[in-house]
Amino acid sequence: EISCSLVGSEMCIRDSKKMVAITFDDGPSKYTTKLVDELKKREIPATFFVLGSEIERFPDVLKFESDTGNEIGIHSYEHKLFTKLSEDEILKQVSKTKSIIEDLTGITPNIIRVPYGSTNKSIKKVLNDHNLTSVLWSVDSLDWKFKNTEKIVKRVVKDVKEGDIILMHDIFETSVQAAFQIIDTLEKENYEFVTVDELLWE
Ligand code: ZN
Repeated sequence: EISCSLVGSEMCIRDSKKMVAITFDDGPSKYTTKLVDELKKREIPATFFVLGSEIERFPDVLKFESDTGNEIGIHSYEHKLFTKLSEDEILKQVSKTKSIIEDLTGITPNIIRVPYGSTNKSIKKVLNDHNLTSVLWSVDSLDWKFKNTEKIVKRVVKDVKEGDIILMHDIFETSVQAAFQIIDTLEKENYEFVTVDELLWE
């Protein structure tokens, strides 16, 4: 399966890996520190689409996420359905969250996942005009529905393929536990975890 003339070199190892991004929405939460600790141990980056309202409850956790090499994207301020909001209201949800992230991490986020994935052409344009790329997902773990570690792991591992973006939520303990098992299983299957940014622009 590995077609590389430089067998053993670092470049060859990288080329032979299948890139995948694991993403977590709706945090930070009281479970996020444990998640980030374990990501750090495994030297794996994740991408977090965060809520401004939750960052205000867990500012240190957001800083920890960012300081340990994870990517931070915007989810919204308070998880509103963007298709039901005016342009002004959308921009308020976005800019409020953006400035909280900037203040805490010193990094300006450039990706957003709209709540419920509920978007359309004009919303995408508004976001684009504000230098935000709208990102959805290709593997839905349905973790919020299952709330069962084994079921979540099974579903993701069965469906995943190279280049996928996995959707999870770091607000459930079952999801965080599932994430560890998903990561360990996929690493054995020669997947390499990267941030959404790396996956999109590689
Ligand atoms: Zn959400």
